[in-house]
Amino acid sequence: MPELPEVETTVRGLARYLDGERLTRVELRRADLRRPFPADLVQALTGATVTGLGRRAKYGLIHTDRGRTMVFHLGMSGRWRIEPDELGAHDHLVLETGSGHRLALCDPRRFGSVDLVDQALLDQWPTFAALGPEPIGDALDTVHLLAALGGRSAAIKTMLLDQRIIAGLGNIYVCEALFRAGIDPRKAAGKVSGPALARLVPAIKGVIAEAIEAGGSTLRDYAQPDGELGYFSKRFDVYDREGQPCTRCAAPIKRITQGGRSTWFCAKCQK
Ligand code: ZN
Repeated sequence: MPELPEVETTVRGLARYLDGERLTRVELRRADLRRPFPADLVQALTGATVTGLGRRAKYGLIHTDRGRTMVFHLGMSGRWRIEPDELGAHDHLVLETGSGHRLALCDPRRFGSVDLVDQALLDQWPTFAALGPEPIGDALDTVHLLAALGGRSAAIKTMLLDQRIIAGLGNIYVCEALFRAGIDPRKAAGKVSGPALARLVPAIKGVIAEAIEAGGSTLRDYAQPDGELGYFSKRFDVYDREGQPCTRCAAPIKRITQGGRSTWFCAKCQK
């Protein structure tokens, strides 16, 4: 499943082909992904010029000069194919630009989504209005976490996956950030000390920033015809490393289940 760094990398990759470009052709090759494509999508985007791209949580944003923004989510398996030689059965949306670029949104499992939102109203769009601050940037700080987690008895791991507390932070990066900050994922969120939360903020920003950087280097490999945007692998300290030695103390990494999701952690390093 693409996490925030993959979405950020995808958006940066798409920008090379779309930013400033006129969309000469917009083709829908089926009626829906997780839900139907907007009825006016083709009409609204055909002939529009892309004025910029962005990201909010795990959503990619393609802004146009008509004041409408195409908001896409990659779901479980979505990715953008760059200059595909031929279109496949899972290429559901195709964009062609005035410079002759062709990009296809490919989503085999169709858990993704595409919406059209007025750019001026993006912050009020119900999906975005409910989101907490981005994990990178200035909005996430210790003061926010102290206020959001204070008095909460749910485990810190579970709370950090709540998109209302931090937007777009997925399971991999919550596990990695808690390891880096030395916080036991089972601890009640309201019991995590101020100094520990002060360590957690740079830990979150660090794991996300490093993953985006890793994605950027992967992206260079994709700068070729028929490349794909959306996925890359990275080495992790705890994620998916059950039984393997902790990178800090060599104790075996443990795996538990919290809220239906796996949590990997070092019981020695995380208190
Ligand atoms: Zn350890």
